[in-house]
Amino acid sequence: MRPPFAVQSVEATATVDLASLTFQIRSDRIGALADGGIAIVDFKTGRAERPGQWLDPRPRATQLGMYVLAERNAQPDIEVRAAAYAQLRPDAVAAVGLAADANAWPALTRVSACKLDGWQALEVWWRSQLGALASEIASGNGIVSPRQSPLACRTCCLQPLCRIQSVRNLVEQSLDDE
Ligand code: SF4
Repeated sequence: MRPPFAVQSVEATATVDLASLTFQIRSDRIGALADGGIAIVDFKTGRAERPGQWLDPRPRATQLGMYVLAERNAQPDIEVRAAAYAQLRPDAVAAVGLAADANAWPALTRVSACKLDGWQALEVWWRSQLGALASEIASGNGIVSPRQSPLACRTCCLQPLCRIQSVRNLVEQSLDDE
């Protein structure tokens, strides 16, 4: 259940500067909340990542983070109060995301549940974490480092093209030889 809001924009483009890079992004929907501020919504036909995982050491929901930072650039005087996936699965239609406070979007997880001191702290965290990732991209860092390795590799369709297993084999071989 979403709170009452008026659609402010659909597929609006905006930019966000991180490290030395400028990213152009297009958010699915931005809604103006009835009691002030905006909510950013991304439609998802797959399973949405739970907010409790968003602030993992390897960040998740980075797309929503980019949308929030881009809105901060585009409309600095307008408060972002929620960022959510609208999960559209036949077996699980739900809004999944973070809200600044209980009124912003009651169905979402409060940002304080992520041990952050308010929405501004979330934006600071996103800018720091996404900035670090942008720095890696800008410096040409191409290290293959999948999340939940090697679990993710077991179901990956890119195995025939990927060299990570041969690298693992070499590492195991050198350890055996020691
Ligand atoms: S097999 Fe390669 S491409 Fe696929 S998840 Fe593992 S490291 Fe990534």
